[in-house]
Amino acid sequence: MILIDGKKTSLELQEEIAKEVKQLISEGKKQPHLAAILVGDDPASQTYVTSKVKACDRVGFKSTLVKMEAYTSEQKLLEKIKELNSNDDIDGYIVQLPLPKHINEQKIIESISPSKDVDGFHPVNVGRLVLNLPTYVSATPYGIVHLLERYQIPTEGKHCVVIGRSHIVGSPMSILMAKNTNLGNCTVTLCHSKTKNLKEHTLQADIIIAAIGRPNFVTADMVKQGAAVIDVGINRVEDNTTPKGYQLVGDVKFDEVSKKVSYITPVPGGVGPMTIASLLQNTLKASKKEI
Ligand code: NAP
Repeated sequence: MILIDGKKTSLELQEEIAKEVKQLISEGKKQPHLAAILVGDDPASQTYVTSKVKACDRVGFKSTLVKMEAYTSEQKLLEKIKELNSNDDIDGYIVQLPLPKHINEQKIIESISPSKDVDGFHPVNVGRLVLNLPTYVSATPYGIVHLLERYQIPTEGKHCVVIGRSHIVGSPMSILMAKNTNLGNCTVTLCHSKTKNLKEHTLQADIIIAAIGRPNFVTADMVKQGAAVIDVGINRVEDNTTPKGYQLVGDVKFDEVSKKVSYITPVPGGVGPMTIASLLQNTLKASKKEI
């Protein structure tokens, strides 16, 4: 069994990005610039945004953090987005989700200029993904693609079962795995909460991608010997023996599943760390006007 090290892979990718940024700057080209809008003071969102800004520093990007009060009106946020859309120095930006309840998230996503939508959530970018056109792939699926690539996990002709069909993970992941490209060409089964006999599907899978949000959901009896398993889930499980009172576990019952598989991602340290590297890559693409 090979343990897929997302932390190490993410750092390698960030080093490569940093090298490229140095090169761009030495050629007199523009320093990539990522902005993030944070509305409100949700602690988890603050942590995510702070780590994105820190990552920008690490790779030599310029970053701008726009903080707005939790009571900011939808109109004010739309005005800020308009400003960022027309600011030529900003290559790409994200609006940290979730937004306060009084703001319509979809309306906000659709107001972001698709060419600056480095989160890849705009319908234009999702449509481009479906049509196999150059696009910003959202960070988590893009991170998984990088892991499969770096670990040279064969995909062509393989059967991939994706569990979960969310817009940010499961659904784009199923599209990417089925694409007629080097990394892709899988036969894909997309499962969800209404799937009957889930185990019958997962037992046929050469690759399982679990994005469910249920701790230890995928057990050894659901997995074929030698399969590759990508665990996207991040679940807090109460644990009074830890200082925080909880531990993070994935959607896959790691202890038993890891004994049967060829590759597996741990939680934490698997898919999670790749998200930031993917966002940086999308921003680099944006600064080079590749999309
Ligand atoms: P989500 O929007 O809640 O979607 C969960 C999906 O799982 C849904 O499609 C749901 O089906 C399906 N599902 C729920 N119960 C099921 C069951 N019993 N059998 C089969 N399918 C079932 O979650 P998400 O945003 O995709 O996130 C999934 C997990 O990944 C969460 O733990 C989240 O924290 C984690 N995550 C991690 C990263 C990372 O960077 N590592 C990034 C994003 C998310 P229905 O559509 O039928 O409801």
